[in-house]
Amino acid sequence: MADSVSDAARVLRRVFGYESFRDGQQEIIEHVVGGGDALVLMPTGGGKSLCYQIPALVRPGTGVVVSPLIALMQDQVDALRALGVRAGFLNSTQEFDERREVESAFLAGELDLLYLAPERLRVDATVTLLDRGKIALFAIDEAHCVAQWGHDFRPDYLLLSELRERWPDVPTVALTATATPATHAEITSRLGLDDARHFVADFDRPNIQYRIVSKKEPKAQLLALLRAEHTRDAGIVYCLSRSSVEKIAEFLVANGISALPYHAGLDARTRAEHQARFLREDGIVMVATIAFGMGIDKPDVRFVAHLDLPKSVEGYYQETGRAGRDGLPSTAWLAYGLQDVVQLRKLIDASAGDLTHRRRLSTHLDAMLALCETVECRRTGLLAYFGQQRIAPCGNCDTCLTPPRTWDGTIAAQKLLSAVLRLQRERRQKFGAGHLVDILLGRKTAKVIQHDHDTLKVFGVGTELGEPEWRGVVRQLLVQGLLAVEGEHGTLVLTDTSADVLRGQRTVLMRREPEPAAKSASTGAA
Ligand code: ADP
Ligand code: ZN
Repeated sequence: MADSVSDAARVLRRVFGYESFRDGQQEIIEHVVGGGDALVLMPTGGGKSLCYQIPALVRPGTGVVVSPLIALMQDQVDALRALGVRAGFLNSTQEFDERREVESAFLAGELDLLYLAPERLRVDATVTLLDRGKIALFAIDEAHCVAQWGHDFRPDYLLLSELRERWPDVPTVALTATATPATHAEITSRLGLDDARHFVADFDRPNIQYRIVSKKEPKAQLLALLRAEHTRDAGIVYCLSRSSVEKIAEFLVANGISALPYHAGLDARTRAEHQARFLREDGIVMVATIAFGMGIDKPDVRFVAHLDLPKSVEGYYQETGRAGRDGLPSTAWLAYGLQDVVQLRKLIDASAGDLTHRRRLSTHLDAMLALCETVECRRTGLLAYFGQQRIAPCGNCDTCLTPPRTWDGTIAAQKLLSAVLRLQRERRQKFGAGHLVDILLGRKTAKVIQHDHDTLKVFGVGTELGEPEWRGVVRQLLVQGLLAVEGEHGTLVLTDTSADVLRGQRTVLMRREPEPAAKSASTGAA
């Protein structure tokens, strides 16, 4: 054992050029070098790669790494080769000759690390190949992809259980940055890792300041944030669609910010070029869909801004986790509004897959919404989601810094729900939130007149609140499950629990948006 420790430390220094291990690394590496199985839960940027790379170098044979990040394999392998590590990869993007070369190197025992795309496991030849070589260990990167419960399930990952059955004596190390207790349990059972040691790192990223604001004029809000706090900083702005990526990037450029777009609709060369500029140059703002960022290792990303709501807390944590890998203060900023909720609910309704699948998506979204609407510390909520307890509020999130107040929204909720009830009784199925708000505010729009909605009892009963407040009420009722969205038009309908509110048997507490701080006063001018 003493030997393996010194071997590992020597490899760390000589090959990778690092003086000391980071938290947790040494223990994991010793365990795997000694032939043990491990499940490693470590946040993005925590240093997971060394946890299998060093054991692969210390143990005889080749470390076989299964990774879904096919686009990054070339870079990973190039980086390792530059350090003198004998590495290769096998995936579907390769020419036959190139693949043959890697295969013979593996069989000749001339590879320290072999990266394998999961889809390669579908081919019998791959198993035959592995059978004929010497394997030091299996590393399953992004192991949450095996969990159907998770947010990033890849069917090919289910084939991994065969590896375990075929090579029960080869140590396996599964690694992930996103593991809720449920996902965690599923990884363990699917990969047959019951006897594996679990290494769970602290998921807290204390230098990241979490802020979630209500979306009003997203472009102006974003620009105000960048101008007030992040001039000339590198950052990532996430948008849901390709077209909004393009629009936001143009908008930022027009406002003097070095922004570049990134999404799957751009050709490979443009994407590679934008990624390279983001990594190399200072102060580039990447406006991207979530296609961007996996495996990107840039330490000084000072902010991650979301202009659309992530579909899950896992996604949110992973995306925001790309900020501040260097440990310096960084911002995770998210603007979300009613439209996000309606749109994502519609996407879920329309999504392929069975009811169980849609329920799962819906549970993920609900957890994300709960985080948005919480009046408690965001970090506490985030870590609790990952099964980690915190004793005290963090002092470095928006709810800690400017505590939101709550208000008794029971009467507002009753007004809104009875409007929904009226429309439902009329069997008018095509009214979304905007129309409801018009009715409550007593606005005689064309649509209101056309449907005689100015004659409803609820017409004009809600003038004590403005339009943004009413939209907030709708949003919070949706989040609290007192209202639901149905159909492609985003029609609002009552739920089983709505009646309790209408009958006055339930009070409804709502979150009041804190007054914007003086800083963002420039929003209007932008
Ligand atoms: P993860 O896979 O957990 O997201 P990586 O393995 O990519 O993280 O590591 C993140 C960064 O930290 C990389 O640049 C890596 O070289 C660096 N790193 C990892 N371990 C150490 C260490 N012991 N000392 C210094 N830098 C390290
Ligand atoms: Zn906090």
